[in-house]
Amino acid sequence: MTSESLARSVARERRPAPAEPADARRYVNQWVESEALGGETVRAFVVILRTRGCYWADQKGCSMCGYAKDTLGRSATPSELAEQLGAAVARYRDEPYVKVYTSGSFLDDREVDPASRLALVRAFSGRSRRLLFETLPEFATPETLGPLRDAFAGELEVALGLESTDPQVLGRLVHKNAPPSAYLAAGDRVRALGLRAKAYLLLKPPYLGEAESVRDVVASIGAAHPHFDTLSVNPVHIQNGTVVEWLYHRGRYRPPWLWSVVDALRQGAPSRGSSRLVSFPTAGGLPRGPHNCGRCDRTVLAAIEAASLAQEFAPLAELDCACRAEWEAVRRLEPLGVEA
Ligand code: SF4
Ligand SMILES: [Zn+2]
Repeated sequence: MTSESLARSVARERRPAPAEPADARRYVNQWVESEALGGETVRAFVVILRTRGCYWADQKGCSMCGYAKDTLGRSATPSELAEQLGAAVARYRDEPYVKVYTSGSFLDDREVDPASRLALVRAFSGRSRRLLFETLPEFATPETLGPLRDAFAGELEVALGLESTDPQVLGRLVHKNAPPSAYLAAGDRVRALGLRAKAYLLLKPPYLGEAESVRDVVASIGAAHPHFDTLSVNPVHIQNGTVVEWLYHRGRYRPPWLWSVVDALRQGAPSRGSSRLVSFPTAGGLPRGPHNCGRCDRTVLAAIEAASLAQEFAPLAELDCACRAEWEAVRRLEPLGVEA
């Protein structure tokens, strides 16, 4: 099966059945995590709203993205979104940082209508210092962002899944619908409106080895930093119903080593300009997430988090474990198609 037809068949299979009306009134998930705000480590309130989901996931979808399973298969009505927001606000304890995700684009009217967007921003205005939401680049316009900026007393942060500044990697391996230039231009538009722009960079999309993926992230940091305030390195974790999972089950994909995350941060830090470089790996240390040997994972993850919060990457050079030699062997052998 070609990677193109594999992507389309995986997209078809994972499309969810329309949700029950009761599901549409419940957000997908909510939790609190640590985040950096300026030089401070603060509590961040995260909520994932249930919407129709990403339109691109219906057509083809990205090779590592399984968010379609958390969607409705139809647009949520304003009253359903209001109930989800009300339930989230009931759990909110004035955490200084709020992150709102939708398994797609917060700024796509088919997912969250403009009045519901405004209601959400107003609900957190004056209570949180920074509010983040994620979107595809085509929806980040003065028309969508201007009213939200005017309604929020604090900083708005717009997150964009740039993933890679290499058009081949982004188009052929990640399967995004727009070229890197569209993401860089969106970062510029966001900042021109006085908002913060954050880019996610993907470590180890399918068909790239450990060393190649580190090189791709380091090059992307250098090319993207003038357009974004924050660059977040996201090592792939294996989500259900994705091309990455299909390859994983056939022994053709291993989630990235944490040593590769460390390497990408150490090599990328000098070329990050004035932007913040961070990584908070999802599912770190788990078999389907970025991991090392199991003995050093907690220590390495803690060091990655500390480096991200403090913007001090030199301490990462002090990490070591016997498994580092195995990771180095993988890097040497993978260009030859040989397993270590
Ligand atoms: S990664 Fe983003 S653009 Fe790609 S399918 Fe998932 S939600 Fe859509
Ligand atoms: Zn180890």
